[in-house]
Amino acid sequence: MELIDGKKISEQIKEEIATEVNQIKAEGGKVPHLAAILIGHDGGSITYVNHKVADCQHVGFRSSLFHYEDDITEEFLLAKVEEINNDADIDGLIVQLPLPKHINSQKILEAINPQKDVDGFHPANVGRMAVGLPTFLPATPAGIIELIRRYNIETFAKHVVVVGRSNIVGSPVSILLAKNATPGNATVTLCHRYTENLKQYTLQADILIVAVGIPGLITEEMVKEGAVVIDVGTTRVKSDVTKSGFKLKGDVDFEAVAPKCSYITPVPGGVGPLTRMMLLKNTLKSAKKEVYQ
Ligand code: NAD
Repeated sequence: MELIDGKKISEQIKEEIATEVNQIKAEGGKVPHLAAILIGHDGGSITYVNHKVADCQHVGFRSSLFHYEDDITEEFLLAKVEEINNDADIDGLIVQLPLPKHINSQKILEAINPQKDVDGFHPANVGRMAVGLPTFLPATPAGIIELIRRYNIETFAKHVVVVGRSNIVGSPVSILLAKNATPGNATVTLCHRYTENLKQYTLQADILIVAVGIPGLITEEMVKEGAVVIDVGTTRVKSDVTKSGFKLKGDVDFEAVAPKCSYITPVPGGVGPLTRMMLLKNTLKSAKKEVYQ
């Protein structure tokens, strides 16, 4: 069994990006610039955005954080998005979710210029992904693909079983791994909350990707000997041993499942760190006009 070390890979990617940015600066090119909109005071959202801003600083990007109280109006937010859309220096814009109830999140996401949509959530970019056009891939599926690539895990003609069909993880990763691409060319089964007898599918998986949010959903008897297991789940559970009083649990019963696997991601330290790096990669691509000319 080999542990997939997402932390190590993400550090490598961070250094690769920093090196490229140094080169861009030396050549007088466009320094990538990410803008983030944060609304309200949700602890999780603040932490995520702070990490993204810190990552930008680390690799030499510019970043702009627009933080508003949660009573701002939808009109105000739409106007801010439009202003950023028209700001030629800003290459990427992310709006941290969830938004307050009185704001229509979909309307905001669709207001972002697809050419700056580095989260890859705009329907135009999702459509481009579905038909295989250059696009900004959503960060978590892109991170999973990157881990598969860097560990040289074969996907060609393999059976990939994805559990969870969310728009941000399960559905896009199922689309990407079925494509005629490398990694890709897998036979993909997509399972969800109404799948009957989940085990009959997971047992067939050469590569099992789980993005549900139910700790311990995948038990030992649900996994084939030698399978690759990628656990996207991150549920906060109470803990007496950590300083914060909680720890992150994946969807896979790691202790029992790991001995059967050829590769497995830990939680934390597996997919999570990659997700942050993929946002940087998209911002760099945008600055270099690699997606949209
Ligand atoms: P979600 O919460 O939007 O949806 C959960 C999915 O699981 C749904 O598609 C549902 O059909 C399916 N599901 C629910 N119960 C099921 C069951 N019993 N059997 C099979 N399928 C079932 O999904 P999400 O936003 O992709 O999040 C899933 C998990 O991944 C969460 O724990 C989330 O915190 C985590 N996550 C981690 C990262 C990361 O970077 N590591 C990124 C995104 C999400």
